[in-house]
Amino acid sequence: MAQDFLIIGGGIAGISAAARLSHLGSVILLETETAFGYHASGRSAAMFEEGYGLPPVVALNRASRDYHTHANGGVLSPRGILLVARADQREAFDADVIDMGAAPIALAEALGMVPILRPDRVALAAYEPDAMDLDTDLLMQNFAREARGNGAHLLTGARVTAIRRTTSGWEVDSTQGIHAGHLLINAAGAWADQIAAMAGIAPLGFTPLRRSIARIPAPGGHDLRNWPMLLGPGEAWYAKPDAGKLLISPAEEYPVAPHDAWADDMVLAEGLARYEEMVTEPVTRLETSWAGLRTFAPDRALVIGAARQDPGFFWLAGQGGYGFQTAPAASKLVADLIGGRAPELDGATVAALSPQRFDGSGQ
Ligand SMILES: Cc1cc2nc3c(=O)[nH]c(=O)nc-3n(C[C@H](O)[C@H](O)[C@H](O)COP(=O)(O)OP(=O)(O)OC[C@H]3O[C@@H](n4cnc5c(N)ncnc54)[C@H](O)[C@@H]3O)c2cc1C
Repeated sequence: MAQDFLIIGGGIAGISAAARLSHLGSVILLETETAFGYHASGRSAAMFEEGYGLPPVVALNRASRDYHTHANGGVLSPRGILLVARADQREAFDADVIDMGAAPIALAEALGMVPILRPDRVALAAYEPDAMDLDTDLLMQNFAREARGNGAHLLTGARVTAIRRTTSGWEVDSTQGIHAGHLLINAAGAWADQIAAMAGIAPLGFTPLRRSIARIPAPGGHDLRNWPMLLGPGEAWYAKPDAGKLLISPAEEYPVAPHDAWADDMVLAEGLARYEEMVTEPVTRLETSWAGLRTFAPDRALVIGAARQDPGFFWLAGQGGYGFQTAPAASKLVADLIGGRAPELDGATVAALSPQRFDGSGQ
């Protein structure tokens, strides 16, 4: 029997959409992997930084904050971001300070927060106290519970291999059989353009950009619980406390085809060197490393809305580096648009997120 909504992709985008749409009708979600959140959604740095991204992304971040803070007891906890730079990196540092609304602080204060900073290298420091840790597993579980509670079918091990248009909607072949739905929601992350092509919808030109992360033991055996995230100028690297360890990322944006990503050793080594230059403790051992794909539309804003070419095909893609922090407002917009309600977001933001913003036939 055809469901009202057929969602492809079981990352944060698909699961949050399933939760919201489960209030409007029947939902089936198909995920290739044997677990939800296996790809980008299982590999993030798990931060909420309200000022991170272009204006339509920041609008989504802002509109998501209340949900992240209060829904189901909340998923945010204090972290803060400490920007650090050499004297010759002032231009990039100043731009970051403005973008993130950070306040310049004295080096002594920065050292008080992170005692391993090198006073002979770090000349500039600024602090953004409102950046938060985001419990990504909990957020996914909360949305999944809501969806299932309303009867949604969330399937793993169900890779979509073919998509056909029918008079009343869509029929898809998956590795778990044939499924049908009236509206198809494309939440396939790095694979979003492939899903469109399968459905006969012209791709929008998404680019998956690889980003690597390494986990190292606590530098110098320090207690990292209250350390902020450290950010190099122009997002050249970052380091973030994580369950008593330190995550370090070269913050690269390396374009790749959609695949099960892994860390590039050379890129990782270069990023670690940029971090090491600023601290007194050398990196002696990596506990593990991984990479994920941050998938961007050509203009780096999310794409949320029905394709002009076929209103039965709904884009929910291009979450880039913001998929978790934007999820509450993005999924709410999905439900508002599909449910025919006036979106809570302002009109300019809705237009900036719409697939209609792209020229050409592929919408
Ligand atoms: C290193 C790194 C750091 C990040 N840090 C942050 C951060 O601090 N804060 C933040 O908000 N965001 C962050 N992000 C971004 C965030 O992780 C992503 O934006 C988000 O996870 C994207 O979710 P998604 O559901 O769109 O994609 P995904 O999680 O990749 O899910 C898409 C799913 O679609 C499935 N799929 C594809 N094709 C098919 C098919 N044919 N049939 C069935 N299923 C299919 C895939 O298997 C996949 O599971 C980070 C990302 C990375 C890589």
